[in-house]
Amino acid sequence: MEITGSTKICCVIGSPIQHSLSPPMHNSAFNALQLDYIYVAFKVSPSQLGEAVTGLKTLNIAGFNVTIPHKETIIKYIDILEPSAIEIGAVNTIIRKDDELIGTNTDCDGALYCLRDQGIDPSGMKITILGAGGAARAVGYAFSKYCDTLIFLNRTQKRAQMLSSEFKENGVRSKHFPLNKTGIAQSLEQTDMLVNATSVGMSPRIEESIIPPNLLKPELIVFDLVYNPIETRLLSDARENGLTVIDGAQMLVYQGAIAFEKWTGKKAPVNIMRNAVLNRLQKAIE
Ligand code: NAP
Repeated sequence: MEITGSTKICCVIGSPIQHSLSPPMHNSAFNALQLDYIYVAFKVSPSQLGEAVTGLKTLNIAGFNVTIPHKETIIKYIDILEPSAIEIGAVNTIIRKDDELIGTNTDCDGALYCLRDQGIDPSGMKITILGAGGAARAVGYAFSKYCDTLIFLNRTQKRAQMLSSEFKENGVRSKHFPLNKTGIAQSLEQTDMLVNATSVGMSPRIEESIIPPNLLKPELIVFDLVYNPIETRLLSDARENGLTVIDGAQMLVYQGAIAFEKWTGKKAPVNIMRNAVLNRLQKAIE
């Protein structure tokens, strides 16, 4: 589509930002649907965040994504927060409506759509989440509406304990175990789905996995939020044991697809978006 004076602009702000997969993912969708939109990335440091948001508002940006390190600090610049953003305490997508910025968090529905895609119903499940950062909180929030129990394990145990307490205060059955051999074994004994919400396994340390393969019992569903590489060590160990696996690229695509639909009002072409993400990841390793 030719860029003209009426082309609408979407973007992502963060730092670092040059390796973001969002521009190819969203531009492939805009092109496929022949929409007069483009998507670009802006590096914004923490000290520039307020000015950047004012600038985006002034320039009539149609919508934008927010990534590390601004997902929490952006909240004070947003006019209206949707419930997901309030509960998670983080915003990853902003929609402009008239003169107001509406902040939401599409990571949680993105995670749920990944399960739906594979016909997996989290109702009544016991779910172990590795990690206690922003991603762990978002998927914990998503699954907490359906599951029986959330179990958190984190390298810094205090963070797992705090996150678990927070969920308990909100009426969700939740526990935490130490991230060591015994803690992992004890939690996995009672787990239906394991979610890796740490950065372990991410490029360049692609040989690393927190879970010893012998603890990957039959019937376990393994969801790795890491998307670079798509097939992490954890997922390949799980696949070798014949388990159902969900990769992080799928969640990346779904959180993006939800944002795309909010900005454009059109159904997102998720397969095209996934192919754009896979192509970009492939190019990065060539
Ligand atoms: P974050 O807030 O920085 O949290 C990182 C988590 O990883 C913390 O729990 C940290 O433990 C843990 N960790 C880091 N290095 C570790 C190690 N060597 N051993 C054990 N634990 C370690 O990051 P985040 O935003 O939650 O993101 C976590 C991962 O999810 C990243 O790989 C990110 O790319 C991915 N993610 C994917 C999607 C998607 O759409 N697929 C969306 C969001 C995030 P401590 O607390 O001990 O530091």
